[in-house]
Amino acid sequence: MTEQDSRALRVALVTGGAMGIGAAIAERLAMDGLHVLVADINLEAANVTAAKINASGGSAAALCMDVSDPEAIAQTFATIELDYGRCDVLINNAGIAKTYAFLDLPLDAWQKTLTTNLTSVLLCGQHAARLMLRHQWGRIVNISSVSGLRAGTGRTAYGTSKAAVIGLTRQMAIELAEHGITVNSVAPGPIDTPMTEALHSAETRLSFTNGMPMKRYGTPAEIAAAVSFLARPDASFITGHVVPVDGGFIAAGVLNI
Ligand code: NAD
Repeated sequence: MTEQDSRALRVALVTGGAMGIGAAIAERLAMDGLHVLVADINLEAANVTAAKINASGGSAAALCMDVSDPEAIAQTFATIELDYGRCDVLINNAGIAKTYAFLDLPLDAWQKTLTTNLTSVLLCGQHAARLMLRHQWGRIVNISSVSGLRAGTGRTAYGTSKAAVIGLTRQMAIELAEHGITVNSVAPGPIDTPMTEALHSAETRLSFTNGMPMKRYGTPAEIAAAVSFLARPDASFITGHVVPVDGGFIAAGVLNI
């Protein structure tokens, strides 16, 4: 197979691809010429996103997958192997967030957050990388968060899971480098999605925007643009990094004279 043929057939899997940031990433990767698998716990919404991509000239299919269930992940990758024999790009995007005061955080919420946000990245990464080894080529982008780089009130479970995703990104990057697989993380700042619509109070929104030089929430498309860059064939020498896409939130200290 020539390099051009192999590129034309490239398959990208986006977890949590039905809504929010994941849907924007799925749309963007389809625009980049990849066949996109929109994998989500919500199959109905995944079907809508895949249909939208197909209607606008891209190529996509929906898959039902719960990333908190190791068996479901294994099943999905078995189906991908059977149907496509490859997975060239993996975007570990699915995640959940619920805030609790540190002293009130229930153990089951901690465990559910780590299983969904962190263990899923390990398992999807292992399955995808085994398929990527066949072509000695792959791109993995793990969606973390600025909450994995700076602490946020109420974010003991969420922030810790995202900090660990950044650590896991580095681990994966150094062991997969010799196989032509890059692994990076994009750390979004606050983005307008169904998640933040449900999670962010007026006070949270104010606290975020006050700390941001750009004084606004980002859009899912702004995250998708960074992911698209890292998934490109010519982003071949960037691995093990975390890229905040955050309107300056991580860079900022005091903002008033
Ligand atoms: P969202 O809640 O708006 O959308 C998440 C998508 O993931 C939904 O389609 C949902 O059905 C799916 N999903 C949830 N649990 C799943 C599971 N167990 N298995 C498969 N799919 C599942 O979230 P979002 O705001 O688009 O966030 C996407 C990612 O970006 C998450 O990892 C989140 O932590 C991260 N992030 C978001 C923000 C933000 O401000 N929105 C900031 C930083 C990081």
